[in-house]
Amino acid sequence: MRILVSNDDGVHAEGIRALCEALRACGEVVVVAPDRNRSGASHSLTLEVPLRVTRISETGYHAVKGTPTDCVHLAVNELVRPEPDMVVAGINHGANLGDDVIYSGTVAAATEGRHLGYPSLAISLVGKTHFATAAHYAALLVKGLMKHPLPADQILNVNVPDLPLEQIRGIRVTRLGNRHRAESVIRTEDPRGQPIYWIGPPGDKQDAGEGTDFAAIEQGYVSITPLTIDMTAYDSLAGLGAWLDLQG
Ligand code: MN
Repeated sequence: MRILVSNDDGVHAEGIRALCEALRACGEVVVVAPDRNRSGASHSLTLEVPLRVTRISETGYHAVKGTPTDCVHLAVNELVRPEPDMVVAGINHGANLGDDVIYSGTVAAATEGRHLGYPSLAISLVGKTHFATAAHYAALLVKGLMKHPLPADQILNVNVPDLPLEQIRGIRVTRLGNRHRAESVIRTEDPRGQPIYWIGPPGDKQDAGEGTDFAAIEQGYVSITPLTIDMTAYDSLAGLGAWLDLQG
């Protein structure tokens, strides 16, 4: 079993190191990750400039001057031979709950691995301290997938509470909740008096009801949400057809 590991926090992040250490118990681990923090890169590809890869001497990790999706695309189609069997992305520094999955480079990296024929896994720590807890669950789930594979068209989005392992209450299968609108853009000035802007933090949770990923985390459980690529709103197909008829 060859496991391709990537992330969006960059090749030097604490989360990816913790993940690799834990996954070595499951198989051969190959790391191809962005050379810097690319959180929020979503599923973007670099198309206007070439991609350069350097090898970090002390870890053997491949650092790509590109996005998380570039990394997995390059790894699967070119860099890693024989091809990897599975993609694990993370451990993200911070939550990927509800609407976060749209912006997340971690989830995108896992998504890019879907054509390998194994479900790919994205794992995030809802905090910045207990990476060992998330690493433990990553290894547990990867071992589970090796024994009992799931359908290949799914991405597992895993979020882990930032708690010591013994305080985790278990694992829950969840649906995505959602957040309120993001906090507003922060406007400030550069030293020359020109306006500059920062994208504000994500909004607070809105749908955090029973069954959601937010609720599981709040109650001290690891949350696993199966995600699919097909975003078609099947329930709306008939209604949209009727609406189109109304337009004459
Ligand atoms: Mn990140």
